[in-house]
Formats: sequence, C-alpha cells, structure tokens
Amino acid sequence: MNSADVLALKALLSTPQKIAIIPHKNPDGDAIGAALGLHHYLIKNGHTSVVISPNDYPEFLKWMPGTGNVMIFEKQNAQAKEFIASSTLIFTVDFNDLGRIGQMKEVLEETDTTFVMVDHHQSPANYASVMYSDTSMSSTCEMIFHMIKALGGVNDINSEIADCLYAGILTDTGSFKYAATTSETHRVVAALIDKGARSSEIHREIFDTNTPSRLHLLGCALNNLVILPEYSTAYITLSQEELDKHNFKKGDTEGFVNYGLTLAGIRMAVIFIENRDEGIVKISFRSEGDFSVNEFARSYFEGGGHTNAAGGKSTRSMEETVTYFRSLLEQHKSELNA
Ligand code: 5GP
Ligand code: MN
Repeated sequence: MNSADVLALKALLSTPQKIAIIPHKNPDGDAIGAALGLHHYLIKNGHTSVVISPNDYPEFLKWMPGTGNVMIFEKQNAQAKEFIASSTLIFTVDFNDLGRIGQMKEVLEETDTTFVMVDHHQSPANYASVMYSDTSMSSTCEMIFHMIKALGGVNDINSEIADCLYAGILTDTGSFKYAATTSETHRVVAALIDKGARSSEIHREIFDTNTPSRLHLLGCALNNLVILPEYSTAYITLSQEELDKHNFKKGDTEGFVNYGLTLAGIRMAVIFIENRDEGIVKISFRSEGDFSVNEFARSYFEGGGHTNAAGGKSTRSMEETVTYFRSLLEQHKSELNA
C-alpha cells in the first residue's frame, strides 16, 4: 500500500465511522474472509461496521467468526439500503467494478459516501477515493493483512481476524499452490497462525464438509467432461436439470473447474453452469501459463478476473454457449498450444 493511501486511510479512520463492507456477488472465501477480517479490525478500533453481501454464500464458509451478523442484500433489502444510506465510509473488497455486485450497484451509485477499494483483480474501475489495488497479490485477505500492518494495527489482529484472513488466502491460492503465492504470502500466513488462526480446522471446514449429493454432482460433472487435445482445452457442462437432480446448493460446484487442468497437457479448463432463474449460463475459466482467461472472458463472455482464473456469463442456451465457445478456439489455437 503506498504511503499516500495509508495517510488518506488513517485520516478517514481517525474518528469513529459507520462503515459498510461489501464483497462481490456470489462471494467466495477470499471475499467473505476479507470482509469479516476487516470488520473485526474496524470494530476493535471503535467503528460501527456491517458486512453487506449482495447475495448468500456457501455453507462451507459459515463457520467464520461474525458470519451470523452478515447482512444479505437480497434478503434484508430495506435494512441494508438504510445502513448504506447512513454510512460514512464504504469498503469494497475483492472486486473492482460496481458491475460485480448485481442489484446493489444502483444503491451504491446513488450514495455520495467515500469509497475505499481493496482488490487484486485486473482493470480497476474508478469509483474509490482510496484505491488499494494490486494485481500481484495472492488474495484480498493478504492485502487486508498488509493494510492493517500499514495502519499500525498488527497488534489488533486476534484469532477471529486471523481465522478469516487465513481462510481467504487458503482458498484464493488453491491451498498455497497458485503462482501468486509468494514467500511473503507464506510469511503473512505464518503471522496469522501465530495470531491464532486454526489452520487445520479451517482446512477441514472448507474442504472436508462434503455432502453425498455434492460428491454425486461431481461425478456427474466429471462424466460430462469434454477434452479437446487439439486446443489443449477441457470443459464441463452442468445443466439445471442435472443440478436439480443432485439437490444443488450454493457452493456445491466450487472447485469443479480445476479438474480439467489436472489433465497432462491441458492449458485451459472451463465449466458452464446453467442458471435457469437468472436466465444465464455462468462460466468459470482457469488456465495454466500465459494464456489469459481474464482477456478471454472479457472479450467474449462479459466477464474478467485474473490471468489464470476468471469468470463470465452467457445469455444464450447451454448448447449455443458451448457451440460459440468451441468456435472461438481455432483463433486462439497457437496461444493455447504454446
Ligand atoms: P470463479 O470462476 O471462481 O467464480 O471466479 C474466478 C475469478 O474471476 C474470481 O477472481 C472472480 O472474482 C472473477 N469473476 C468471476 N465471475 C466474474 C464476472 O462475471 N466478471 C468479472 N469481472 N470477474 C469475475
Ligand atoms: Mn480474491
């Protein structure tokens, strides 16, 4: 975090504020971990703070300290709007464009409250007074740690904050294996463990709380895997009917897209998930090496993200979406096979 941003943030937090902390829609471990970790820190420093998530999040994250007080905009609409309208400061975490928060976008665009952005995605939009944006960071949770440290608050980090931040770093680094995991990331993780993060319990809460229906849905997804060796690409489809058959719950498909990348020689893995309620096919992209799925998702599927992990959507049917996707591969053949 640069010194001008640190000074600006210190000034903003020098008197008690009423703060809304907002993660992106369909929040993952990093988004919820960063929001709740920051929430506990701000409360400890005398501010009023509420985490307001655009929509609900998966059960495997609901062990996090403070989860019971998270407001869900979709469900507690009036209460959330009221809090935002009277807030004096808004932190947006783990996203950098108000298009990532669904219906909440209009509400945030109406306020004249000061925004602070903490995020590690590419191409940040320009809505925040303090913009802590660093695409080299493993996770927003790692950034929250650096931010607290820059504010002189390392001693405020208790086991609650440590648990939340550990969870986000763990999930966004794919258990410390993705390329953005640096020695500094490991130093932050070590500090969090020293502060009381329950690493082994957190791994279990996140990865070892499967339901039988989720494992059967994974079986279905793997059965649907299509491998295109000529494009070093593999993709999975899941129709609404298949999701219904396996009693789909939010978060059940988390991580499925990664299986394609475990195949030797595969450089891009994709999962297409039908969402009949929203009338879209939600898409997750993963890549290995230089092929930028951020650019691919941005160019063709109204999305974005990071070089090696991105998301997007399509309003076409599943069949048309997959046909369109396959038609794009020929022009990227040389990059995919590089
Ligand atoms: P996932 O595939 O796990 O949902 O998301 C992978 C990465 O891409 C995450 O960092 C996520 O924030 C980002 N992402 C997912 N969906 C979208 C989208 O529709 N638009 C943008 N800009 N980013 C997305
Ligand atoms: Mn993240």
